[in-house]
Amino acid sequence: MSETNGKVVCMVTGGSGLYGMAIRAHVDSSAEEKDATWVFLSSKDGDLRDRKATEAIFERVRPTHVIHLAAMVGGLFANMSKKVEFYRENMLMNDNVMECCRIYKVQKLVSCLSTCIFPDKTTYPIDEEMIHNGPPHKSNEGYAYAKRMIDVQNRCYAEEYGCKFTSVVPTNIFGPHDNFSIEDGHVLPGLMHKCLIAKRGGGDFSIWGSGTPLRQFIFSEDLGALIVWVMRNYHSVEPIILSVPEEDEVSIKDAAMAVVSGMKYTGPVKFDTSKSDGQFKKTASNAK
Ligand code: GDP
Repeated sequence: MSETNGKVVCMVTGGSGLYGMAIRAHVDSSAEEKDATWVFLSSKDGDLRDRKATEAIFERVRPTHVIHLAAMVGGLFANMSKKVEFYRENMLMNDNVMECCRIYKVQKLVSCLSTCIFPDKTTYPIDEEMIHNGPPHKSNEGYAYAKRMIDVQNRCYAEEYGCKFTSVVPTNIFGPHDNFSIEDGHVLPGLMHKCLIAKRGGGDFSIWGSGTPLRQFIFSEDLGALIVWVMRNYHSVEPIILSVPEEDEVSIKDAAMAVVSGMKYTGPVKFDTSKSDGQFKKTASNAK
């Protein structure tokens, strides 16, 4: 990474979440990353929804590089029930972080999008140029439109102020430090939690929906290494998808069966089709 007065300070927002902890694991295990001071923020360091609190963080840390991961995130079911909060909280955080990156002359900002923000009706595989080609799935429109605005703002900041802002688009992620809440979490930690309860005698293991939707899962620590690679080596404002190949896409049923086998659960398994399937698939190309 390029330097200011010999000092590279890379600040990671959302540093205690699934992605942030994955970057931390990568940084801790890689000698190459020791040329920078890494600062991992959590919500305890200040409220990024608040402009003054965000400025106070930038004033204190004086980052030269920022990886912006902090977001209000959740699985399908949280997204469906809190669209206003998903929209507003993410818009506020992203706007504050970007504007502070401009004011504090941050040399590079990498923010995080998601494949679930792409148009619902699209051709496959999805690629980086399709983000704005139609409305997202209704289930997560609050989150999706807020995230899409990052891409719009990145280009606006580049054009008007010459800022080097870009974004990454990971597919579904799993790994240590995930949110294991059954109601609010994503599918793999939710399934693991439910499987544990079933194993302890708490009833049948229930897979929500039909099990037919398809997803590409990336291990969080692989993603952590890739995001740092983007920070160092990817120099375009346009987003870049970070994913396993299309051939590695699996059905929710297969993912659930991997949980069953990994957790050595031998009891009954059922599909609760009263629950939503969400998007059928969002197959993404990692060609770029
Ligand atoms: P998405 O990939 O953005 O849709 O979000 P999720 O990670 O929440 O995955 C949702 C898919 O997994 C849908 O097809 C759900 O019906 C299915 N699913 C099955 N069991 C669960 C569960 O326990 N939790 C969640 N979040 N989704 C589940």
